[in-house]
Amino acid sequence: MRLGALEAGGTKMVCAVGDETGKIFERISIPTKTPGETMPEMIAYFKEREIEALGIGCFGPIDPDPKSETFGHITSTPKLAWQNFDIVGAFKEALQIPVGFDTDVNASALGEATFGVTKGLDCSMYLTVGTGIGAGIYIDMGAGAQAGGNLLHGMLHPEAGHIMMKRHPADEYEGKCPFHKDCFEGLAAGPAIEERWGKKAAELADRPEVWEMEAYYIAQALVTYTMIISPRRIVLGGGVMHQEQLFPLIRKYYAHMMAGYVKTKELEDLDSFIVPYSLNDNQGIMGCLQLALQRLT
Ligand code: ADP
Ligand code: ZN
Repeated sequence: MRLGALEAGGTKMVCAVGDETGKIFERISIPTKTPGETMPEMIAYFKEREIEALGIGCFGPIDPDPKSETFGHITSTPKLAWQNFDIVGAFKEALQIPVGFDTDVNASALGEATFGVTKGLDCSMYLTVGTGIGAGIYIDMGAGAQAGGNLLHGMLHPEAGHIMMKRHPADEYEGKCPFHKDCFEGLAAGPAIEERWGKKAAELADRPEVWEMEAYYIAQALVTYTMIISPRRIVLGGGVMHQEQLFPLIRKYYAHMMAGYVKTKELEDLDSFIVPYSLNDNQGIMGCLQLALQRLT
């Protein structure tokens, strides 16, 4: 089966072709400009490759509700050229194939849950800490779930990067979120790290105070997610998580903040509860292939 995958991001569009087993045959990356410039390039790519269905994991906010009038649209994104753009409609019309559609982080959560480090778990989360912060939530409800019904949407989709935070006592940075200033994303996404410390995040590797503060915020969010979602494992990805020293720090703060309140076998071993992404960072594309497959079947 030839399936198309599109990881639609604010800076680049990764287009790929693969199959239902998660095998990726080929891929290209196209810079995200305006729909007028970028859509024809992507359509041409997929048209030539004769795919049976397309799965899109998209930056948001988006409308993933098939019953809604604006299903398949990118909605209130700060990327103005893409605001209210009907990305699913555009691909459907041009390619005449089924198109699956979800958030980029739900696609990654699905990729990990189908092929990766959360396979076989009935409830898991994927958190990305990059240019923004977002989480995908996978909940297997068993036979009752409809196709694609294992990803949490509710009225829209989770916006887990915009939760309120208790500030680190030493943090005087005002926060970068245009809506909330010092929400989780406003304090801890890549651009916030860079504005607070005045340097590219990748160049701050040898500044322990940077990663202590970052871990404090990430751990706090993970505790909140644990209390509400009760996942069996949380996967962390995104550019900021390339700082591998974050993992032990996050686990340390997590244990401290949890304070022994929730007692499960999962939380006895934080090394396997809070884990890095697997699949060589292909979890997003592999999840999109799976979205395409779900749309077909
Ligand atoms: P996006 O979120 O746009 O899809 P990424 O997940 O790669 O892309 O996130 C980009 C952000 O990650 C940048 O803001 C940058 O600050 C941060 N970043 C990228 N590489 C590193 C690194 N090696 N160490 C720390 N931060 C990084
Ligand atoms: Zn916010």
